[in-house]
Amino acid sequence: MIARKPAGGPLTRAQLLREIGLSPQWQLREQRAVTLPTPGVPAITPAERRPEAPNAIATPAAVTDLAPTAAPASARPQDIAGMSWEQLQHSVAACRACALCQQRRQAVLGVGDVAADWLFIGEGPGAEEDARGEPFVGPAGKLLDAMLAAIDLQRGEDVYIANAVKCRPPNNRTPEAAEIATCAPYLRRQIALIQPRLIVLLGRAAAHALLGELGSLASLRGKTFAYPAPQGGGSTIPVVVTYHPAYLLRTLPDKAKAWEDLCRARALMRAAKTAAAQTAGSSPA
Ligand code: URA
Repeated sequence: MIARKPAGGPLTRAQLLREIGLSPQWQLREQRAVTLPTPGVPAITPAERRPEAPNAIATPAAVTDLAPTAAPASARPQDIAGMSWEQLQHSVAACRACALCQQRRQAVLGVGDVAADWLFIGEGPGAEEDARGEPFVGPAGKLLDAMLAAIDLQRGEDVYIANAVKCRPPNNRTPEAAEIATCAPYLRRQIALIQPRLIVLLGRAAAHALLGELGSLASLRGKTFAYPAPQGGGSTIPVVVTYHPAYLLRTLPDKAKAWEDLCRARALMRAAKTAAAQTAGSSPA
């Protein structure tokens, strides 16, 4: 989904940040962070785009079938690993593999550019996401949009947004480890289809889904993790962990840290693109 523009014309980035109380703190740090050297940039080979990943906006999954469809436990991850976007959408919409399906209105697969360089992963749909079938459309989503705008990104444009679990946990509770594990094959398949250059994990549940139980969020920040690139060849996708926007709405002082994380992510992205261009330039025609 493309970020909505307010009536009366688009806001500038500065206005947008001021609107939600992120300015001037975020802007000041942006200038400082851009001059820093890029920390721990892993060697990345350019992602070869799969032919089945056109540069298009994914529509949210709608619930069309609530009949149990989960394959036997052992076959399910393998089945999901071979799915196209269309199959993935149908499978997620009809999924009954864990108890989260019982209270959802609809499963929420994700939204954005399915050939995006940037992949942001949150926790799971909340009430508004469950009602609308799109990730991050409530207050946390508004903040996420502002965070994206602060680094010159816009949802739907070179950005894909997904969640660790695709169904709303009752009362917006944190998804349980078993629920995250059951949903993980869907997330892995999304990554394989998108082949992003960089992944940003928003909060502990997302970090848990992709990196496992590695520790507190504070201990995961400031590091660059390596997710094995779906195209193989030993290349990896850099992964950055930062605070969840909903947490930032409650904990204003940590917005500065999230801003540092975003600046670092942007530096990693630039390094990844430079490395890819160099590799492309040095390959024989
Ligand atoms: N929080 C999340 O983690 N994901 C959403 O989609 C909405 C809120």
